[in-house]
Amino acid sequence: MTKPTTAELQAMDAAHYLHPFTDHKDLGARGTRIIARASGVHLWDSDGNRILDGMAGLWCVNIGYGRTELAEAAYRQMLELPYANSFFQCTNSPAVQLASAIAEQAPAHMNHVFFTGSGSEANDTVLRMVRRYWDLQGQPEKKTVIGRINGYHGSTVAGASLGGMAAMHEQGDLPIPGIVHIAQPYWYGEGGDMSEQEFGLWAARQLEEKILQVGTDKVAAFIAEPIQGAGGVIIPPSTYWPEIKRIVDKYGILLVVDEVICGFGRTGEWFGSQHFDLQPDLMPIAKGMTSGYLPMGGVIVGSRVADCLIDNGGEFFHGYTYSGHPVAAAVGLENLRILREEKIIDYARNEAAPYLQQKIAGLAEHPLVGEVRGMGMLGAFELVGNKATRERFPGKGAAGTLCRDMCILNGLVMRAVGDTMIMSPPLVIQPEEIDELFDKAWRSLNMAAKQLR
Ligand code: PMP
Repeated sequence: MTKPTTAELQAMDAAHYLHPFTDHKDLGARGTRIIARASGVHLWDSDGNRILDGMAGLWCVNIGYGRTELAEAAYRQMLELPYANSFFQCTNSPAVQLASAIAEQAPAHMNHVFFTGSGSEANDTVLRMVRRYWDLQGQPEKKTVIGRINGYHGSTVAGASLGGMAAMHEQGDLPIPGIVHIAQPYWYGEGGDMSEQEFGLWAARQLEEKILQVGTDKVAAFIAEPIQGAGGVIIPPSTYWPEIKRIVDKYGILLVVDEVICGFGRTGEWFGSQHFDLQPDLMPIAKGMTSGYLPMGGVIVGSRVADCLIDNGGEFFHGYTYSGHPVAAAVGLENLRILREEKIIDYARNEAAPYLQQKIAGLAEHPLVGEVRGMGMLGAFELVGNKATRERFPGKGAAGTLCRDMCILNGLVMRAVGDTMIMSPPLVIQPEEIDELFDKAWRSLNMAAKQLR
């Protein structure tokens, strides 16, 4: 079979492929770039351009591209047992071993894993499991889950409802009933005259206000990302999480910490919860679990909920054809082996992250940059027209889009969330590759500045 040319692929793409999170009319006008291959932290498109992947795909390729061990693990598993389900009293070796390996890395009280196919399915599972838990506790009226404005928990109906993305809610009457939202801890954007620490407390106390407003007998859980990713790499003030923990404990509601981005090393710890010293009841996971080589997600379940499900019995009517998929699990297991044996998370914490953060801090010198922030292998900077007043450029998000386009022209993938530029490179990125990332970022910023002024 001859390989289709770039032009042929673009024509077929336009004719047949509806892309996710895309303005299809706009895409038709702009055309698509075909990503052809990848190795380490670099991608190549079908025209031969070499691009540094500053986002690790969608925050997922933690161990970098091109690890043959993962391909071989998948190949071996496909020959031996390509599919098996975990319904009807059956299980399979890779899924069992992966659940056990994840439990070893998770906080001590979290020893069970429910497998899904994605992060969104993980959060659908969260909603159903939380309500099942309170049913079994004899408090079925405790159904309401509190999320946050501008949080992201996926794109299924439950995931998008738990998240607080206004544009997603507008399409199709979301959120579904029983899900409400509080303010996000976004000090730079929304802190007003408060100090960062005051604002962190204020934002956390919105949870208590919402619990009292909904009714203490009606609230089931609070869900949040340790650091908001899709919302723009928003790192809460240091006062935020301790106050949230106090409130969650005071009212006895379940704490769900969405680790889909932070899990598997992104913050320099195995989980963001360990970084912030949280004791979640449930942790949705995906992405870095397989480094994105195959789709897989799950929910790590703490003893409070797991014991309740197990001790009370009764079927939990929930699960997926691909829950505990043996090939995805074999790849996940190999990914965990590599993370552990090559001490990749230690490398990220002790070497890559300090250098990355130093370089991010340096961007504050650029005339377009209003705030820089970062933690571990996550970073962001805000584009502003006036540093002192934090005034944005006109045309909401236009400066971010321009900067992102300049990055691609310069061979760098960075994402724009409005006018916030975000990065999340593979954990294995080397110092000289970090230099390349920031050389390209500076060049792109200078080009954007010329057009914006
Ligand atoms: N939760 C968080 C925190 C995420 O960042 C994402 C994806 N970006 C999801 C859930 C949804 O995961 P998926 O796209 O695999 O469904």
